[in-house]
Amino acid sequence: MTASPDIRDVIILGSGPAGLTAATYAARANLKPLLIYGQQPGGQLTTTTTIENFPGFPEGIDGNELMQRFEAQAQRFGAAFLQGQVTRVEVGCCPFRLWLGEDQLSCRSLIIATGASPRMLGLPNEWDLYGRGVSVCATCDGFFYRDKEVVIVGGGDTAMEEASFLTRFARQVTVVHRRDSLRASPPLQRRARDNEKITFRWNSEIAAILGDKTGGVTGVRIRNLENAREDDLACDGLFIAIGHHPNTELFKGQLDMDKEGFLVTRNFTETNIPGVFAAGDVQDPHFRQAITAAGTGAMAALQAQRYLEELNDRQKLCARQCVQS
Ligand code: FAD
Ligand code: NAP
Repeated sequence: MTASPDIRDVIILGSGPAGLTAATYAARANLKPLLIYGQQPGGQLTTTTTIENFPGFPEGIDGNELMQRFEAQAQRFGAAFLQGQVTRVEVGCCPFRLWLGEDQLSCRSLIIATGASPRMLGLPNEWDLYGRGVSVCATCDGFFYRDKEVVIVGGGDTAMEEASFLTRFARQVTVVHRRDSLRASPPLQRRARDNEKITFRWNSEIAAILGDKTGGVTGVRIRNLENAREDDLACDGLFIAIGHHPNTELFKGQLDMDKEGFLVTRNFTETNIPGVFAAGDVQDPHFRQAITAAGTGAMAALQAQRYLEELNDRQKLCARQCVQS
């Protein structure tokens, strides 16, 4: 039994390492997958410079170039691509339905690889000053801070990598971190600590962003968490690098999530709905690496393939078919 031509065997949401790897595997299995890019084609790695830990590239590779290669590989095997952002999904019964604005798509199996988006500090004016000195992407915006002073908040890999990157442009980079030790991996820590343009403010948080919409960021108020003392530091930019939250808003009430909103998977990439699989950062609170995202993308495609084969053996369209109205 084959599905109606309007019903795709596999739709993949997201064009990061997880989604594009799933597309390559699904295309090679002749499932004619359709991948929807989302608003960040190529995913998070397009916001960084050199990727040094992706196997097969001993000299490192630029994040954008790596993702272009992922896409070219999926294209070579016949994956189809669609620009746009999915705004609504219904996975309660099958065929699963997706909307991109007014346009509707249907599929028998769905691979969710919608990744993660940057966390914000939650300060009242951070969105007013976003793009006016507040940034979440040093690679994108660092260029604007030549000979300027910038502050970066966070103590993970992203914060250390971005702090080091920003020293290419900025005169001085101050890292504000809420503890007195870093979460970042040793090589990234070392690079930042050894850089004389970088100074650290330990056990501290950003209490306020100074500035307004007209003049942009002029400084930050830093609160020492040990003694609650505050002081103002003049700066031209604030880079927020405090991690990411999973992009799962669309699936609330339909798919099981943990308390932080990560999709819960079992038996590798299965969600609580048969035929719906999740891969990459959207279901991974632990590793959040390009290689692990790619790995789970491959697993999701292989599991989708097996799921569809079992349905075909039983002459079924899908596991739980929607009642026709
Ligand atoms: P993402 O890369 O987040 O991609 C998600 C995709 O989903 C995007 O294409 C987005 O457009 C799409 N999407 C979202 N919502 C929708 C929707 N509603 N409809 C359709 N599509 C949607 N990892 C490493 O291993 N090495 C590194 O050096 C490294 N450097 C990093 C540097 C930075 C600055 C950051 C932020 C992360 C870095 N990481 C690194 C982590 C790595 O980028 C992630 O683990 C990886 O990108 C996760 O891949 P993903 O495919 O799960 O999701
Ligand atoms: P992360 O590892 O979750 O680190 C977030 C940092 O921000 C932590 O230091 C955390 O402090 C701090 N933080 C969180 N919430 C905060 C808040 N509200 N206020 C102030 N500080 C806050 O996130 P990440 O650095 O973006 O890394 C995400 C993943 O991508 C990781 O798996 C990482 O390895 C990967 N990555 C890898 C590379 C690389 O390999 N080159 C580069 C970038 C990212 P605490 O430490 O106190 O929790």
